[in-house]
Amino acid sequence: QSFENFKINKQLLEAVKEAGYTKPTPIQEQAIPLALAGQDILGIAQTGTGKTAAYVLPILMKVKYAQGMHPRALILAPTRELVMQIEQSIIELGKYTDLRYVCLYGGIGPTPQIEKIQAGVDIVIATPGRFMDIYGKGNIFVREIKTMVLDEADKMMDMGFMPQIRSILEVIPVKRQNLLFSATFSDRVERISQEFLEFPERIEI
Ligand code: AMP
Repeated sequence: QSFENFKINKQLLEAVKEAGYTKPTPIQEQAIPLALAGQDILGIAQTGTGKTAAYVLPILMKVKYAQGMHPRALILAPTRELVMQIEQSIIELGKYTDLRYVCLYGGIGPTPQIEKIQAGVDIVIATPGRFMDIYGKGNIFVREIKTMVLDEADKMMDMGFMPQIRSILEVIPVKRQNLLFSATFSDRVERISQEFLEFPERIEI
């Protein structure tokens, strides 16, 4: 397999090459074509497997270029550290796109984050708590979100983020693509995938 086999554009292929990715990892090989085809995915994959690029590349391809003011993709992650790692992947793989993104997490004041949203963003990467704070104050328009990622879903559940995740999923459009990644598989993960995903393809590596 090679990245050229995926239906991704040359801006992304060039960035992949410069990142030094010579061939897709197993999770990328399985998840990227399905995600590009619009499927919901339940991916069981640990950190270090290349799971981030497995959803970042399809999102960059789907969102494609800067457009309008409101986000079209939302990535939720449990911690500020993970949000920042995902940001690095978006910076690296999105370097030849003009896509705008914002990172929302706690521990710092929300004002710079809100200003970035108001300037127009295509992709939001957020922890659930800070996302709901900003949404609750009317600072983010969510009706154009068409792709949603839950990264490290098991960890988000361990950290008690289920109520916020439920609230977020209630306000974003019902018609959307859902990509859920978890390091472990359990009854809990099975339950949230049944609650939130529509006919998901399950990928376990
Ligand atoms: P992740 O599992 O998403 O945390 O990724 C682990 C590391 O693997 C990151 O540093 C990525 O930059 C790197 N990586 C992701 N995909 C590939 C690939 N296809 N080839 C080589 N390195 C990769």
